[in-house]
Amino acid sequence: MTATKQSGCRFCGTKLENTFVDLGMSPLCESFLPGEQLNQMEAFYPLHAYVCGNCFLVQLEAYVTPDHIFSDYAYFSSYSDSWLAHAKGYTDRMVERFGIGEKSFVVELASNDGYLLQYFVEKGVPVLGIEPAANVAAVAVKKNVPSLVKFFGKETARELAAEGKQADLLLGNNVLAQVPDLNDFVEGMKILLKPAGVITMEFPHLQRLMEENQFDTIYHEHFSYFSFLTAEKIFAAHGITLFDVEELPTHGGSLRIYGRHGEDSSKPVTERVTELRAREEADGTTQLETYSRFAEQVKETKRKLLEFLIAVKRAGKKIAGYGAPGKGNTLLNYCSIRTDFLEYTVDRNPYKHGRFLPGTHVPIFPPERIRETKPDFLLILPWNLKDEIIKQNAFIREWGGKFVVPIPEVQIHE
Ligand SMILES: [Zn+2]
Repeated sequence: MTATKQSGCRFCGTKLENTFVDLGMSPLCESFLPGEQLNQMEAFYPLHAYVCGNCFLVQLEAYVTPDHIFSDYAYFSSYSDSWLAHAKGYTDRMVERFGIGEKSFVVELASNDGYLLQYFVEKGVPVLGIEPAANVAAVAVKKNVPSLVKFFGKETARELAAEGKQADLLLGNNVLAQVPDLNDFVEGMKILLKPAGVITMEFPHLQRLMEENQFDTIYHEHFSYFSFLTAEKIFAAHGITLFDVEELPTHGGSLRIYGRHGEDSSKPVTERVTELRAREEADGTTQLETYSRFAEQVKETKRKLLEFLIAVKRAGKKIAGYGAPGKGNTLLNYCSIRTDFLEYTVDRNPYKHGRFLPGTHVPIFPPERIRETKPDFLLILPWNLKDEIIKQNAFIREWGGKFVVPIPEVQIHE
């Protein structure tokens, strides 16, 4: 693997001098280990986020190439019920608001296993998914979602546009953070969008990350973290106007931005945009001091979580994990939580069964393990799905089991 050494800000090129948070050395969060690799050397990379002093984009240096991330990608969107419901709700809204129908063309960037486009296919809307991970795209094709196995950027956009394939609706959920060359990606979107087309993108909102201590959403595969103001600047630099925005509860608090060509005057900028801009200004989004406060907040979150775990272990209780998401690996590595605290974790994704979490080497089992071992506490690692997980695992209360949510700070649900 070759690291792409970055000289300056991923968007504006300014030299990066201001630390946002330094989470130390950590392995790549999706590199789950098979048993036979446990005794081998493991690669750790700095997990050090900077904030650009010019455009306030929070970012990591890219130590890992997208080729590496996506070659054997373990993340299948369809394993979360609430995320599927979110995707279905989105398709209904787009059909209603923008009249997306049988004559439209919908393109999704990082379309994963077809978790979203399948709902447009059900409505008879022509779609195309663009997905770099071949193993994941193959699952989409089985759901009748045509998928192009490619990285998206200017080049792919030009090829599609040359074939007359431009999008009426161009969307991307949780992909913007994973794009190493932001300018190439957004320029590609400009090229692929029909003159009156609409872009929607969802990404975690940096303000929520800071307010709610979501430091565990920082991992090597997430290169960038956006406020609305910074996202607006990036799209504007490529001729795209953000005309609407919604704040969503997904992934701990996300934004859904709506973009159009700067020249397309048929969609006026909504009050929600002006209101959010004003709120971010008032919250200090364009002041460096706002960002420098975050690092201390993160250390305190770690101390509180360790205090809780130590007390529980001293009382002779058993703790198991639920889930093996990327954010869990950042949390466990940064806090040095290994099998001394967490006996094992479980996950619904069969790809992960029998493997071990990177760095901490916590074993991953199928969810049935919980009933078999009856832990006293279940630490929910994908805390963004806590309601769904607590509901699905309510049976642990039969033996007095309790749920623990680590972020924004340790909270016990009986
Ligand atoms: Zn910058």
